[in-house]
Amino acid sequence: MDKHQDILRSIPSVNELLESPEISKFTGRYPRLLVVETIRAVLEDIRQSLTDKKECAEAQAIDLSPQRLSHLIQQSLQQKFSGIGHAINATGIILHTGLGRAPLADEAAQQIQDVLRGFSTLEIEKQSGRRGIRYHHVEQLICMITGAESALVVNNNAAAVLLALDTLARGKEAIISRSQLVEIGGSFRMPDVMAKSGALLVEVGTTNKTYLVDYGNAITERTGLILKVHQSNFKIVGFTETVDLKDLVSLGKERNIPVMYDLGSGALITLEKFGLPYEPTVQESIKAGVDIVTFSTDKLLGGPQGGIIVGKRKWVDLLKRNPLTRAFRVGKLTIAALEATLKLYLEEDLAVKKVPVLKMMLTPLEVIEERCKRLISNVTPETKACMDIAIIDGVSEMGGGSLPGEGIPTKLISLHSEKMNAGEIAARLRDNAPPIFARIEQDHVLLDMRTVYDDEVDMIALALEKISLQRNVNKEN
Ligand SMILES: *Cc1c(COP(=O)(O)O)cnc(C)c1O
Repeated sequence: MDKHQDILRSIPSVNELLESPEISKFTGRYPRLLVVETIRAVLEDIRQSLTDKKECAEAQAIDLSPQRLSHLIQQSLQQKFSGIGHAINATGIILHTGLGRAPLADEAAQQIQDVLRGFSTLEIEKQSGRRGIRYHHVEQLICMITGAESALVVNNNAAAVLLALDTLARGKEAIISRSQLVEIGGSFRMPDVMAKSGALLVEVGTTNKTYLVDYGNAITERTGLILKVHQSNFKIVGFTETVDLKDLVSLGKERNIPVMYDLGSGALITLEKFGLPYEPTVQESIKAGVDIVTFSTDKLLGGPQGGIIVGKRKWVDLLKRNPLTRAFRVGKLTIAALEATLKLYLEEDLAVKKVPVLKMMLTPLEVIEERCKRLISNVTPETKACMDIAIIDGVSEMGGGSLPGEGIPTKLISLHSEKMNAGEIAARLRDNAPPIFARIEQDHVLLDMRTVYDDEVDMIALALEKISLQRNVNKEN
């Protein structure tokens, strides 16, 4: 037991560590208070594990070297202070919710910076100097692009749907096909959202087939809304039947009931002409005469997180007067980024060239392959000795509940090592600064270069080099 006491006594004090060269460098990088707290916690953990070890030999085996302590403290500091930061998306999932969904166009990022730096014209009329409406410009843009009479922007599409249901169907019946009672993820489930809004869910049809008469038969004097929800993240194939939007609109008109379409992904350009699968556009829904259309601004649109409601002025005005609108209000950063993104859509060519989500979807295979080749040529021979690196064919995914089951052919970097399993390589890639996220398949790490920016290719090469070096150092020990 005396030996234990000796070891406990040999643990450096918080102050000793703070002044040691290994640790003092952290006080410049992290708040001093946080460093002190972290040292205290790490030392406490060590004391605890010493006390737990009954055998002296075990206790003596605990490494108390300055290098080891500094490493533990650094890890703990990084964990506590990590927060949000740049990440490299090599998963090939373009709209990756974990990685922040749509990356913004340079124009949008720049606009945020301009607005962030000082005061802005968020809610003021320049000419009169009077208080204005924050949504004015962005709503005009939305109407111009979509052809809608009126528009409203809220925090996300979930808020848009809730607001629309609350306004149009609270205490009334809302008719929806059984095939459209979707769950989007992140706890957005259509039946739950309807319940929350106070709308009474009236399901019609079956999972695979719903006819116009099903809707017609369900209409009563209590009906407030006919709701269509885009099956954005799944597909029902085979023996199926859905009702055309146009027919629903006619039925709504005939029976004097508003028709709402939750589009989810909200494409503003036709994807088919680029050889991509069909995805309903906002414009075609408006053209079909739908009263209210809701969609996300950070899915196919490729902007900041947000939700847009477009449609007939009569209904959108009703929504605007709902007190929930204030609760779902977006901040100036969203408005700045959305406005800049939408401006790109005024010219489709510009949007295709500059909105990263569209650009990534449409990147030709040759360009992706070129990125793969560049990565391989930038990797050192030592790295190649540590792991096999090859270019293989693969499939990118849209993600974010868009284009389900419709992969886009891509080129992948495949990594395999006899010395490390794929999980270990992937973990080290995530541990890189910036962290790199990849896929694992059959003990191979796969890096999809479709979602990797050109200036990130060298960062990945460097990360691989570091991994192989670490590996060699560990081996020598
Ligand atoms: C994604 C999606 C939502 C939720 O949109 P958020 O912007 O993520 O809140 C709702 N409905 C559908 C059909 C969707 O695809």
